[in-house]
Parts: sequence; structure tokens; C-alpha cells
Amino acid sequence: MHKYIAYLEYINGKLSKYFRQQEPYIFCKRGCAKCCQKGDYPFRQVEVEYLLQGFSQLDNDKKQLILDKIQKIKQEKADCKQENFMYECPFLINNECSVYEYRGIICRTFGLISSRENANSKVPFCAFEGLNYSNVLDVENNVISEEKFLALNTDIEPLAYNVSYKYLTSEKFEKVFEFKFGEVRSLIDWFI
Ligand code: SF4
Repeated sequence: MHKYIAYLEYINGKLSKYFRQQEPYIFCKRGCAKCCQKGDYPFRQVEVEYLLQGFSQLDNDKKQLILDKIQKIKQEKADCKQENFMYECPFLINNECSVYEYRGIICRTFGLISSRENANSKVPFCAFEGLNYSNVLDVENNVISEEKFLALNTDIEPLAYNVSYKYLTSEKFEKVFEFKFGEVRSLIDWFI
């Protein structure tokens, strides 16, 4: 696990730098939990093991609340007829992550523009809800508006970074940090 923690320290450093660099466009605030309210949350095995370390440190009431939510979501998923079932993360309590220091890799990238191979960059969904990058978003065409950028009168350009989950959990990092991410599942599917 210490090798995974070393990897996390590395990507945390990178992501913190990206968030600082994009400061004119980032409107994340404590208590805003939009990223955790509707999603699929891919988690690799090592991420779940680390998340459970955080869970083990919670008080019994919080643990029980989370376990109850997990059972409820699992039932909803079993009853759901749609393929792409989305849910609120069971670790979200009162709009705050109950295991923040132990959260997954995808959780750490929420809110940045992600560059994609052979495709347009992906603007965070919260841009369409008046949050990150909404001040430079051309909503109709789902692109960054040059006109809005110029109107801001800043030298700091809105940039896309290579922060896709696929890249951040690639073999490259397994080799450099000498650990395996393991199997991937939606967070809820790690629980029986
Ligand atoms: S683990 Fe925490 S940060 Fe990640 S989706 Fe759940 S509540 Fe949000």
C-alpha cells in the first residue's frame, strides 16, 4: 500500500498544480458535492482497499449510515432497467466526502478539463451548471469561447490536462511506482 500512497502523493502534487494554474475558472467550494451526487465512480482494487482504510476510521454511526446507503443503492441498481446506472456515492455525508484523504483517483480529478485522445477535450459537467469553466463556456457548442476568454482580460488560458482515469491508472504508473491497480469496477460493485 505504501507504493500506492507514493503514487497518490505524486498525482496529488500534479493535480494541485493544475487546479492552482486554472484558478480563474475553478469554482469548487466546500459543501459543493455535485461531482459525488450522480456518477458511476470507477475504482480499481487498490483504490478500494485504501478507501476502506478511511472507512475503518469512521465512527460507528457513520459506518452504519454508509453500509445502509450501499445496500439501498445495490437494490436500486438491481431494480434498474437502464444499462448506465448512476448513483450518489454512499461515502458522501452531508455533502462532504467522509473519507476525503482516502478518496479515489477519479475523485481527485473532478472539476478539471480533461484532454482526450483523438477527441475534443472534456469539460467538467459542472460547467453547464454555472460552476467550473462556466465563465468561458460556449454552452451551445460545448467548447471554450474565445470571446468570453478575452472578456475576462486574463493571461491565464483555460487548459485541458491529461487527467483521464484511463491515463492515471495506466501501466506506466504501475511500472514507475511498482504496484498493481488491479481490477476495475463501479464503486458500488465492490460491495456484496
Ligand atoms: S469517495 Fe468521496 S470524493 Fe469520491 S465520489 Fe465518493 S464522496 Fe465523492
